[in-house]
Amino acid sequence: MTIHCQNCLRPYPETGTPYRCEVCGGVYDYSEFPGYVPPVETGSPGIWRYRQSFGLPEYAPVISLGEGNTPLLPVRLNGQQVWLKCEYQNPSGSFKDRGAATLLSFLASRGVSTAIEDSSGNAGAAFAAYAARAGIQGKVYIPDSTSGPKRQQIESYGAEVVRILGNRSTVAEKTREVAANGEVYASHAYLPQVLPGYATVAYEIYEQLGEIPGSLIVPVGQGNLLLALWRGFESLSKVLQIPKAPLLVGVQALACAPLWALTNYGPAGLGWVAEAETVAEGVRIKTPIRGDSVLQAVEKSQGVFIAIDEERILPARDELARQGFYVEPTSSLVWEATRNLVKNLPQPVVSVLTGSGLKTEI
Ligand SMILES: [Zn+2]
Repeated sequence: MTIHCQNCLRPYPETGTPYRCEVCGGVYDYSEFPGYVPPVETGSPGIWRYRQSFGLPEYAPVISLGEGNTPLLPVRLNGQQVWLKCEYQNPSGSFKDRGAATLLSFLASRGVSTAIEDSSGNAGAAFAAYAARAGIQGKVYIPDSTSGPKRQQIESYGAEVVRILGNRSTVAEKTREVAANGEVYASHAYLPQVLPGYATVAYEIYEQLGEIPGSLIVPVGQGNLLLALWRGFESLSKVLQIPKAPLLVGVQALACAPLWALTNYGPAGLGWVAEAETVAEGVRIKTPIRGDSVLQAVEKSQGVFIAIDEERILPARDELARQGFYVEPTSSLVWEATRNLVKNLPQPVVSVLTGSGLKTEI
């Protein structure tokens, strides 16, 4: 087993599905990332072509709704070519489907029949969809303020929805309390089994582009997508012996930008990080669980964090829509970031459009 507690180094247990270390409370992660294995064409759907890269046991079931194989499309911005990876075209409307597929497969392989999750939106929908596909009864804790379409989507998949008064942190706290009573907590934030699923975005970009991109622009809340992309490209470059890594740009909303504050102002910057209101609700995370690893990945890539002003988010969303790309406000952060940076970024530049605009009420 290559998953260990990052704090006390105990291995992930052979039975059960703890979301964090049962001894010290530490976060589990791969001590060695399963990494890229060139796909074999076996007729497996979407991301399951890369099954050998998932680190799942052979007997783990394929839980698929056809996620992956999303388009990579060129657009012009400030006279430069930019490639958009259209992750919002996944089955439940976001990249989270890739991680839900691998996580639910893992949970099913351990005989799980009921599980809980907390999410303000996309992760909750992805969990509910893949739990339904896996025959697992799901319950999802969400902030009372979660937009109607997102809540309806989760409920339609058959998951029970529990609305909690308070912000995202309050909901997470409540979910941890319930998990402490022995419920299986299928946390997309804590459990590392989502990462090999997310890493397939890197493998697809490589195949579609025919090369490792020069730069990669990704929204960062927990930062698990950015981290998985980094690990995905790192392992791909090692296996295929291509000495190249993309420069990573992690994009946050200025209203809640802890990693941007830390890298620009040092530890003092963290002092004034707020969990303020933002239309980019998907990245409203004040304390990213793998924050250290995300920071290291960006640093190693010689990349940067950038924070986007609140008043620029919806205009950027509309600009994308006028070119045919209908994404949620969280995803339009990367468009604004790309505009600001594209002239100085190594080519080719790939920006990841993470979630669909169809669930948004603004
Ligand atoms: Zn531990």
